[in-house]
Amino acid sequence: MQTIKDKYKDYFKGKKYNITTFGCQMNEHDSERISYILEDLGYEKTDDRDQADFILFNTCLVRENAELKLYGQVSSLKRLKKENPDKIISVSGCMMQTSTAREVIVNNHDEVDLIFGTKNINSLPDLIYKYLESGERVVDISSDDVKDDFVKYNNKNDFQAYVNIMRGCDNFCSYCIVPQSRGREESRRPSAILAECENLVKDGFKEITLLGQNVNSYGNKADFNMTFPQLLEKISQIPGLKRLRFTTSHPKDLSDELIEVMKNNDNICKFFHLPLQSGSSKVLKDMNRKYDQEKYIERAKKLKREIPELALSTDIIVGYPTETEEDFQETLKVCREVGFDQAYTFKYSPRPKTRAAKLEPIDETIVQDRFDRLLDTIYPIFNEKNKEYIGKTVEVLLESVSKNNPQVLTGRTDSFKLVHVKADKSLIGQFVKVKITDNTSFTISGDLVE
Ligand code: SF4
Repeated sequence: MQTIKDKYKDYFKGKKYNITTFGCQMNEHDSERISYILEDLGYEKTDDRDQADFILFNTCLVRENAELKLYGQVSSLKRLKKENPDKIISVSGCMMQTSTAREVIVNNHDEVDLIFGTKNINSLPDLIYKYLESGERVVDISSDDVKDDFVKYNNKNDFQAYVNIMRGCDNFCSYCIVPQSRGREESRRPSAILAECENLVKDGFKEITLLGQNVNSYGNKADFNMTFPQLLEKISQIPGLKRLRFTTSHPKDLSDELIEVMKNNDNICKFFHLPLQSGSSKVLKDMNRKYDQEKYIERAKKLKREIPELALSTDIIVGYPTETEEDFQETLKVCREVGFDQAYTFKYSPRPKTRAAKLEPIDETIVQDRFDRLLDTIYPIFNEKNKEYIGKTVEVLLESVSKNNPQVLTGRTDSFKLVHVKADKSLIGQFVKVKITDNTSFTISGDLVE
């Protein structure tokens, strides 16, 4: 009896796929999984979307502009699809997990043939077969993926890898749509995560980044006893693992135990991403962040006191509907007092079906003015932080060729500083020593120490 797989085994030969990924590292990692599945079917990767037979947009909806960008890019394919009806156009990711965005695609974008979500990526082959058999659009966002399954990825290179430790979020910050799109918190079994990490190290990977919307609540509600600090320490003890990173943490769950584990294990990178969002305790309450200014500063200072070489980054939202000028001044005050090494800064963007979306937004010119003043405050701090590296020799994992200068390679220090250094491409994927001679607010640069 011929299986559907047999029937289409030659169909994919010579066909190409193209993936556009929006958003966070979790989406990037999902795209690595999708790319592995498509190549396993027989597709080959192409960076030229027009040449692709399977075109996928893996979407994000944390901010409105990501959503609008997606609709624009999908619409631009109407002509291509009309001229080449055999091309398969697909949309997945967080936008498709929410009915609002999914209906926009279903009702306004006939050019889209296949819609799937963040929790049924492993079903992609069957969804493609279903489309090929029926020729009808397939829309399926069921939750088939078993989180503990050991699945393969096309990692971005052969020395750095992401590993999901959990999915979903139970925090319901009033501005955030992630709990709707990624669902309730579910932690993967420690044994599945450890096995995946051991295999990666065996395959020669040097750096692992653990992923979760809120890694600090790992193990909550689980039918096993393992906290995040315990899991992190176990992974750091895998022989041969050079660097271990993790993201994202929530300040309310940042424990002394985690700080201890980071301090006592050299291969756990001395970099911490700790989203602040606002410096005003009143706004933090309105955002349902479950910590106040004092708690945040106490946690940030504890981290830096215990691990002086640690670099700290954060997320800041400007223009939350209840934010006053006084509240904004509190944000600037925390930025000066904590002294961040880097920050991801955003203007508040109302998201459908979030509590904050019901609130009256602040005038855009006021938000833009505050945003500009925030950057004027934090960039000089970044510059001072980076200036401290001048004269130091740092270990750098070289990652790629600089976009601006083919003679220059870029890489990261343990503290996640972006380093530029003149070096031969053959050193990509290697650890090298660099003597730092210069800096900007965003990078440090220097000479290779032979
Ligand atoms: S912690 Fe808050 S901001 Fe972060 S994903 Fe969860 S709900 Fe969103």
